[in-house]
This record gives sequence, C-alpha cells and structure tokens, in this order.
Amino acid sequence: MKLFYADHFVLPLPPGHRFPMEKYARLRERLAASGHFGANDFHVPAAASDTEILRAHDAGYLQRIVRGTLDAHEARRIGFPWSEAMVERSRRSAGATLAACRAALDSGCAANLAGGTHHAFRDRGEGFCVFNDAAIAALTLRAEGRVERIAIIDCDVHQGNGTAAILAKRPDCFTFSIHGARNYPFEKETSDLDVELPDGTGDVGYLDALDEALIPVFASQPRLVIYLAGADPFEDDRLGRLKLTKAGLAARDELVLSECRRRNLPVAIAMAGGYARQIDDTVSIHAATIETARRVFTSASTSPENPPLPPPATPRTPRELAKQQHRAPTETEPGASAPGPFSRSGGAAGRKCRALPVCASARRLGANVCPPPPRAPRRPRPPAPPMQRTARAPARAGKIVHVRDRRAAAGRKAAP
Ligand SMILES: [Zn+2]
Repeated sequence: MKLFYADHFVLPLPPGHRFPMEKYARLRERLAASGHFGANDFHVPAAASDTEILRAHDAGYLQRIVRGTLDAHEARRIGFPWSEAMVERSRRSAGATLAACRAALDSGCAANLAGGTHHAFRDRGEGFCVFNDAAIAALTLRAEGRVERIAIIDCDVHQGNGTAAILAKRPDCFTFSIHGARNYPFEKETSDLDVELPDGTGDVGYLDALDEALIPVFASQPRLVIYLAGADPFEDDRLGRLKLTKAGLAARDELVLSECRRRNLPVAIAMAGGYARQIDDTVSIHAATIETARRVFTSASTSPENPPLPPPATPRTPRELAKQQHRAPTETEPGASAPGPFSRSGGAAGRKCRALPVCASARRLGANVCPPPPRAPRRPRPPAPPMQRTARAPARAGKIVHVRDRRAAAGRKAAP
C-alpha cells in the first residue's frame, strides 16, 4: 500500500499556533515503526502543478497564493501565515492526494498522510485549507479520462463545504459529507448528500447514520472513492462535537473501507482534521485508519507479496460489538422479553451476515445470518427529481438534511 508523505507537510508555525502541525511527522514515524510498512511503501509526492490546481481554483486566487498577495482578510480566513513553505506544502498536499488516487486505481488503496483540505473554495481558502486536494484530484482524473465517476466520502466532523461548492455542477463527482450540525462551517453548502448529526451523537448513532448514507453514495456508481478520514469526530477533540470513541472511529473506517473493498472500488484516503487535546490521540486515530486500510485491502489479495490475512479470530468490528451491547436478546436467548433500542419485534428473517466469520449471535441462531436488523431492510430509493430537495425520513441518530440528485440532473439513470 502506497503512502504519500513529504517533509513539506510540516509547516513551521509561530509558537502557540493552535494547528497541531507535528501530527503528520509523528504519523509517518508511527507507521514506519509499526512493522507493517517498509521504506518502499513511503513515497514523496510531486507538487500539484498550476494546471492541476486550476481545475478546481480560480487563476486569480492561485496567483495571490503563489505571490503572497492575499489581503489580510483572506489570510486570516486561511489561518496560516503566508510563506513560500506554505505554498509548497499546499501544492504537495494536493499532489499527494492526486498521487494516492492514481496509486489506488492501480492497486486498490493508497493514502495521503495529510490532505483532506475540504474548506478550500474555488476562489478562497479557509479553516487551514489552501487548495482543495480532493477536488483537484477528482477533476484532474476526470480531465484525463481515468475514471468515469468519483465519490468523495467526507467523514471529517466539519462539513466539506469547499468540496461541495467546487463540485456542485459536476454530476460525475458525488459529494457526501457526514458532520456535526453545530460544527463549523456554520453556514453549510449543499453536497450531493449531507448528513448532519447532533452534538454527542456517539458511536452507534453515527455508524447507523453512516451505514444508511452509504447506500446512495454507492448508488451513484463511482469508480473511485476519495475518503476523508478525519480524526476530529473523536470524543476528546477540541473542535469536534460528535463524541466518537477510538473504537467507533475504527469501526467507521472498517465500514467505509470494507464496503468499498466488497465492491472492488479503489479508495484514496486523506487524513483531514484532528485536534485532540493529546496529539498522540490524533496520531493513533490516523494510524488506525491506515492499518485498517492495509488489512482490508490486502486480506483478499492473492498476490505473492500480499498473502491473504487470516480472518480475525474473534469477531467483528466495534460497531457490531456496540450494536450487540444495545441489542435485545433474540428469542433463543434468555431475557427475550426485555427489548432494547435495537430490537425489532416480529422475528423477521435475518439478513446475511456481513462479518466474516459470522457474528456470535448468528452462530447462536445456527445459521449464516445475523439477528434481525435494527431497522427495515435496505432497499434502493427512487431518484429525486433534478435539483429538488428531497425530504427523507430521519436517520436513527441524525437527519439527512437534503439530497440533491445530480445524477437525475445529468439525465443518467439512477443506479439500483
Ligand atoms: Zn475537521
């Protein structure tokens, strides 16, 4: 698995600056020390060229960045003092996501050990974001004809407002953001799919909402996913408000990545935000994302360099564990008369177990099925009319605030 990292990512900042810049170098060190990645796995990305950047940004904005002629308001909105190193860092970070996309198309999965600068708009930067790496990568790959459609799965706690705005008129780029409703930006843009979650949502509510939201994301029929695996939904993050545990974040990664793997969908990962009180927590969360990707994307490989990994001896993702903790006993278990929030009466047929091996509850039922799911079985939803906001049933923990169906706008048939 290729990991893209450049020393340029660590931008020298004035003392006391609140951005945890050192996390990038520490992440690289952590992964190098893990024993799972060799020197050959780390690659220095090329800087994004003007041509590539201009696919997502205005020429005037690029010029102001390169020449250092941003006005005070523009510079303050970005949050980093201008320097040539800042320009180079921004180019390298965008170049790393583009390189990770190319590598993912070749080998299944790759990662930028920085990136996820999703608050950068076409004509401005904000929130520590100068160039929008995901938009630059997506538009460059489209311009080169390397992929037909791309989905951006943005799990940073902040909405991917810049990405949504830049790609608003691109039916070939599906933008999905799941974020804290009360987190910055306070005026949200409209992605193809936004899921806003209330403060303190926690693991189970988050994963349930994400699980449901991935249905329309994959229905957009992407051929490449760019996954922003922000560490800032973490419970001890200084900025995030969603209160996920590390186990919950690992389960989030497992869900997104295994669903992509199951569909043979290449994934390029960018780290995005992370502002935990202890920087080591942020580094651990990012490292866990990369470890999960390595495991998920090598476990089914048959190549000699990547022999298949054995399935975990004990089950399952923390998500399933969390659900089991909240699940009522089945009819075959003691205490079946005390339903919990995830119980469903009626004994409907179970669904095929998505965990390998099947979960303990399924084994207790003596079949390759999980207990009845906590909500009605998935079914494809009909496409919305072009550019129409569609009211949807609220998800269990959050609510899907709007869906703008650009596939219909483009006259394409909705995927099943
Ligand atoms: Zn963030």
